[in-house]
Amino acid sequence: MTAANDSDTLAQRLEVVRRRIANAVQQYQRAPQSVTLLAASKGQPAAALRVAHHLGVIDFGENYLSEALAKQAELSDLSPLRWHFIGPVQSNKTRDIAAAFDWVHSVDRAKLLRRLSEQRPAGLAPLQVCLQVNLASEAQKSGCDITELAQLAKLAVSLPRLTLRGLMTIPPQQGDPAPLFRQLDEMLAQLRNQLPTAGLDTLSMGMSDDLETAVACGSTIVRVGSALFGPRLKT
Ligand SMILES: *Cc1c(COP(=O)(O)O)cnc(C)c1O
Repeated sequence: MTAANDSDTLAQRLEVVRRRIANAVQQYQRAPQSVTLLAASKGQPAAALRVAHHLGVIDFGENYLSEALAKQAELSDLSPLRWHFIGPVQSNKTRDIAAAFDWVHSVDRAKLLRRLSEQRPAGLAPLQVCLQVNLASEAQKSGCDITELAQLAKLAVSLPRLTLRGLMTIPPQQGDPAPLFRQLDEMLAQLRNQLPTAGLDTLSMGMSDDLETAVACGSTIVRVGSALFGPRLKT
């Protein structure tokens, strides 16, 4: 794990994470501002998110609906702020997710796409969606199979209340993530060819331990938890 001493403050850790992203952007000749930091805030109290927001973090990713809704209620005074759902999506939760989030990174089947579009409230902007891909075909992990991706993407762009933005992946804990990150980048390029008017611009990949590798491979959103908030008890 990345060193994150309890004695470090959130401000110090945020500074380190921002510097890591900036260094990687420079080293791998990515465009300035092309990588967004998303704070993966599962298990963190609303007060910690509030501190991060005061320090300029705008994007927060949550994994569990009820935990997220409680924090959203506590933080409703903060603006601008974007809520991203990044955990496994159960189909009986789509109505609440469609109403309470700006983005969903973890959509992996047609039924979820249809429900999220149908249930996105009319007064809100279209829900921003990434398709999660299970590149290593891990049995217990969310994400569609590579072979399903083109069909799912086609469906996603046809639905009125969704905007398909790109792809998301979580590589296996062991092993070099770089080949998988490169593969996701190639898959996004293919989809952009197949759906040239869709405006696909997002690769949601990279976490505390591998964000530099992800930036090297084209990531546009890194989802960082422990390097920002410190080690968490609950995952
Ligand atoms: C927890 C989580 C992260 C952040 O992981 P860290 O290793 O703590 O940075 C990123 N993405 C998802 C989907 C997560 O659940």
